[in-house]
Amino acid sequence: MFDRISDGFRSAINKIRMKDDEKSLKKALDELKKNLLKADVHFKTVKELLRKVEIETKKAGIGRANFLKALEEALKEILTAPGNYGFVYASKPPTVVMMTGLQGSGKTTTTAKLAYYLKNFKKKKVLMVAADLQRLAAVEQLRQLAEQNELDIFYDENAKNAVEVAKKGVEEAKNKFYDVVLIDTAGRLAIDEALMNELIEMKKEVDPNEIFYVADSLTGKDAINTAKAFDEKLDITGVILTKYDGDSKGGVALSIAHQVGKPLRFIGTGEKIADLEVFVPDRIVSRIMG
Ligand code: GDP
Repeated sequence: MFDRISDGFRSAINKIRMKDDEKSLKKALDELKKNLLKADVHFKTVKELLRKVEIETKKAGIGRANFLKALEEALKEILTAPGNYGFVYASKPPTVVMMTGLQGSGKTTTTAKLAYYLKNFKKKKVLMVAADLQRLAAVEQLRQLAEQNELDIFYDENAKNAVEVAKKGVEEAKNKFYDVVLIDTAGRLAIDEALMNELIEMKKEVDPNEIFYVADSLTGKDAINTAKAFDEKLDITGVILTKYDGDSKGGVALSIAHQVGKPLRFIGTGEKIADLEVFVPDRIVSRIMG
C-alpha cells in the first residue's frame, strides 16, 4: 500500500550523497525537503523532521550512514503519536467505538470494513449500529453491507434521534454478548455545531472506548484540519484515512499523526470490504528506508 510513496522516497534517499562537511549535509537536507513537500507532507511536519535529522546527524558525525539512521528515527517519531495502535479491546466487553467523520469521507464503508476485519481475522462478535440518521440512505447502505458480508447490524427506524439509536445499540450488544460495537454516526458536508453537539451528547451517553475520525486522504490538508476540529470537540482516539488507493502523493498519511497528535490507526485502500490495512509506523518506516 505504501509502495508508491516508499518508492519515491527510496530513490530520493538513494540519490543523496554526502561527504563529512556541513555544506554536504545542507544539500542533503534540501533535497529531502524538496521531496517531502512534493509528496504533500505538511510543512510543519517537514520542518520538524529536518530539524531532528540535522541535530542527530551532527551529533553522530556527518556522513551518509548517520544521516540515514537519523532519518529513520525521525520518521518513526513523526509517525507515532501517543495512544493505541491496531485494534485494542476494552477489558470488559463490549468495546464501544464511535465512527465519526464528514459525509462522503467513507465512514459507513469503513464501519463495515472494520467489522469485517474484526469478525473474519480476529474472530470477534461484532455489532454495527446504524446511527447516521442525517443521510437517509446511510442506514440502508449499512444494511446492505451487513447482508452482503454476513455482518450483524442494529437499527431502529422508530428512534427519535441518533443518540437514542446508539444507546439502544450498545444495550443490545451487552445483552447479546458482543465483543465490539461499531457506531456509524452522522456525517455532514461541513463541520457544524449541531453535528458536534450530537456527537458530544452521544459520547456522554455511550462512553466509548474509542472515537475514530474517518478522513478522506484525497482532501489533503483539509483532512488534517477537520481531524483537528473533531479532536478539539471530541478528544478522538485515532484517525482512519480512506481512499489511500487514489492518493498519488501520500503526504497526509505521513503528517496526520504529527499534526493532530493522535495515532493513525487504519488505512482504507479500496472500495472492497477487505480493503483496510492496520497502520504500523515501524513497518512503514522499514519499507520507506528499504
Ligand atoms: P460516508 O458518507 O462517509 O459514510 O461515505 P461512504 O462510506 O458512503 O463512502 C463514500 C464513497 O467512498 C463510496 O463510494 C465508497 O465506496 C468510497 N470509499 C470509501 N472508502 C474508500 C477507499 O478506501 N478507497 C476508495 N477507492 N473508495 C472508498
